[in-house]
Amino acid sequence: MFSNYRIKLGAGIMNANWHKKKKIYNDLSQLCGVSVILTEEYLSTFCTNFGGMYSISPLAVVCVKNTNLIIDIIHYCNINEIPVNIRGVGHSFGTQSLSKGIVLVVSVENPVFEQIDEYKFKVSAFETWLSVEYFLRKNGLSFPILTRHPDTTVGGTLSVGGYGEDSYLYGSQASCIQSYTLITPDGKRHRCSEDSNSELYNFGLVSLGILGIIEDVTFEAIPLRVENILYVIEFEGVFHLLNFLILISEYSNLDIEAVTCQLYRGRYYVNMVLSNNSVQTNIINKVLECQVTGCIGYKYHSVSDYRGRTFGAYRHDLWNREHVNLWGDYCVDQNNIMAFANFLLNKIINNDIFIRNKGRLLIILKKSPSLSKFFPFEPISKKMSGIVFGVGVYFTFPRSEREEYERLKLLHSQILEECILNEGRPYLAGWHEMKYEDKIKIYGDDYIKILALKKRLDPKGIVNNYDFFSIEMN
Ligand SMILES: Cc1cc2nc3c(=O)[nH]c(=O)nc-3n(C[C@H](O)[C@H](O)[C@H](O)COP(=O)(O)OP(=O)(O)OC[C@H]3O[C@@H](n4cnc5c(N)ncnc54)[C@H](O)[C@@H]3O)c2cc1C
Repeated sequence: MFSNYRIKLGAGIMNANWHKKKKIYNDLSQLCGVSVILTEEYLSTFCTNFGGMYSISPLAVVCVKNTNLIIDIIHYCNINEIPVNIRGVGHSFGTQSLSKGIVLVVSVENPVFEQIDEYKFKVSAFETWLSVEYFLRKNGLSFPILTRHPDTTVGGTLSVGGYGEDSYLYGSQASCIQSYTLITPDGKRHRCSEDSNSELYNFGLVSLGILGIIEDVTFEAIPLRVENILYVIEFEGVFHLLNFLILISEYSNLDIEAVTCQLYRGRYYVNMVLSNNSVQTNIINKVLECQVTGCIGYKYHSVSDYRGRTFGAYRHDLWNREHVNLWGDYCVDQNNIMAFANFLLNKIINNDIFIRNKGRLLIILKKSPSLSKFFPFEPISKKMSGIVFGVGVYFTFPRSEREEYERLKLLHSQILEECILNEGRPYLAGWHEMKYEDKIKIYGDDYIKILALKKRLDPKGIVNNYDFFSIEMN
């Protein structure tokens, strides 16, 4: 492998990167259970992610088979001042999971899948949610929240939050984690929970991994739901849809378990999952027929295992390297959603650029945020009230359309600005170029605290460094 690489490099053989690559290869290949890959073809698949907007060439991709080797790699990178960034499956949209140094891929030979008691489990953070869910289902259980793409890794989504239709009740995947093991950039292992290493616990999730590598997580699973009612409701416009959602959130006798909404090909839909009984359908039907305006039509049917839908529908490979995916999600609460929706309708949805690029909206909700746990950099905060609306604005377009790309970037910057004006927050998985003043405005002291922690644990910024948490970049 190494000699192939040398031939391919040809005239560039003497450049500085070449020496660094050669050193990494020679040093790390000595370790049992480590593979160092330098071939250009292989590296090229790691220089971008699902978003496809950035291309950063790593020096090497290093694959490790056991988690103790992560500590060796971190020490090596610290001594040699080589940046290292862990990658899950690269389903991010900004520079997350890209590296100027080493891209670390952890594929453990015997991953942890441990049942601690009836509902409590410990699993490896390098596995996908799909494998975790298969494991839980053998016990008739499920993780409280699944995102729309279960092939992402546990560590990857916990580094940004992880939301889905079940967020209505549970919030984020991260907020369902009771404790976890973190390997910090100084190469030490810490068991983190609210009672133990609480500062690390608080900042180690939903922070892009800048405080270290999540090794395993412990959580309480919930019983698998086998019988529910699924409603699909179409509305004339976004305000009708929002009014309906706000109205039904106030019914205390409704057992709503999951909600998502979308604007797809010019039509507004709500998908809502309720417990299966006639009281529920009577209430919803009455609301739709007598209390709200703008409902074009609705249908409902019973579904068995509504969470299992995620496995089939979204598993086909959406990753097309000829396309750029400019996706971003923004949360605002009930007090601000109408103003935000007004902006979206007038400036974004009815805009030629949105229509031409078949822009899509996805809305995820969270009820009663003040009752849930949230990590400091989540897009939902405890201060938000009523229900919180997470609005995803998604564009997918051919890579060759550079001019369109700049226009769409501008649209996203305007949405972010408006979101902040409406006391909202962006989701860390998306694409954002946020100003330092805005980060301070949104996250306050937490932003200063995490930078101080980062400086203490990783003074040279070696492990999982990302611009979002960098003072120099602002
Ligand atoms: C088609 C598609 C659908 C999606 N749907 C949803 C959705 O419904 N809900 C939702 O919330 N999100 C959704 N996302 C976003 C996605 O969940 C996040 O981008 C997530 O981070 C991707 O996980 P990954 O394993 O690919 O991580 P990567 O993209 O590889 O990495 C993400 C970040 O996590 C860090 N990281 C990875 N593993 C670890 C670890 N073990 N320890 C510490 N840091 C780590 C990386 O360094 C990087 O900063 C979707 C994305 C796509 C492409």
